[in-house]
Amino acid sequence: ALSEVSETAPREGKVITRHGQNLIVSDGTEHYTHCLSRQNIGQVVCGDRVVWQSTDDGQGVVTAVLPRDTALIRPNFSGEARALAANISQIVIVLAPEPPPSQYLVDQYLVAAEQIGVTTLIALNKRDLMDQTAIDSFEQQFGHYEKIGYPVIEISAKFEHGLDPLIERLNNQTSILVGQSGVGKSSLIMALLPDIDIQIGRLSEASGMGCHTTSATTLYDLPSGGHLIDSPGVRSFRLGELAPEALAQGFIEFRDFLGHCKFSNCSHQQEPSCALKEAVEQGKIHPQRLSNYLHMLQGLNPSH
Ligand code: GDP
Ligand code: ZN
Repeated sequence: ALSEVSETAPREGKVITRHGQNLIVSDGTEHYTHCLSRQNIGQVVCGDRVVWQSTDDGQGVVTAVLPRDTALIRPNFSGEARALAANISQIVIVLAPEPPPSQYLVDQYLVAAEQIGVTTLIALNKRDLMDQTAIDSFEQQFGHYEKIGYPVIEISAKFEHGLDPLIERLNNQTSILVGQSGVGKSSLIMALLPDIDIQIGRLSEASGMGCHTTSATTLYDLPSGGHLIDSPGVRSFRLGELAPEALAQGFIEFRDFLGHCKFSNCSHQQEPSCALKEAVEQGKIHPQRLSNYLHMLQGLNPSH
């Protein structure tokens, strides 16, 4: 009788994936349970920490969602914000020599990451395709990110080169990969998750719904520790709505200079004694970062 009580006692778990009201919940071990979500507990998404109880049929019911540390919100034009995934702690921006990397897109990802409150690193993939000239040109464009606190790791997903420093940084984190189509995100996921088919098989088995669709946002266990959340929607995630003040805060190296301009309402464009422009002149802010910021600001205020 005692074991029966403990089996039905509420316990904590993590949502691995969701298909409508059907959730797959992990209890922290390798054990997956098919759960239904109790109504009116709000939206439950991949990565959510939940309280659940097992039911007589060997399945379970999720009775509560615990507060989220972070949430990845899909930009939505109909006004209703929808979370894609919860409790992500790190974003990996994947770049490659082909398609050519965009500093503007990188800055958009970084602003989003700062807004969400996660750490970010940059993975330069397809290193095998780059000669010294290509490396020099990349470093000129993207070398300064390392200086402002975003590590840059050079890898080749295809040849599985240079992955160890990346794997080390994925440990103890729940990460997602983002970046343009064609940079090698799927290839990198395959390289990082050699047993992904086994994990997907176990999910299909737990759900009892046949094939697990990889288009559903799913949390995978990395062999050397940490988790990777993946789905096409998450990979193409973009910056949502943002207040102008939050935008400036999203450029982390600006923080030392914001509030030090001569004019408190400085737009950092034509005004004299602008602390940001002075920082650019002194080489403390990369000129492209300031111009990307001004460009993004314009996008926030269509009236300008
Ligand atoms: P995704 O769209 O970001 O998921 O990119 P894919 O993983 O589908 O890769 C796009 C193309 O780049 C494929 O043809 C891959 O084989 C190739 N690719 C991926 N990683 C590397 C790499 O490290 N080196 C080289 N040379 N090609 C790669
Ligand atoms: Zn200014």
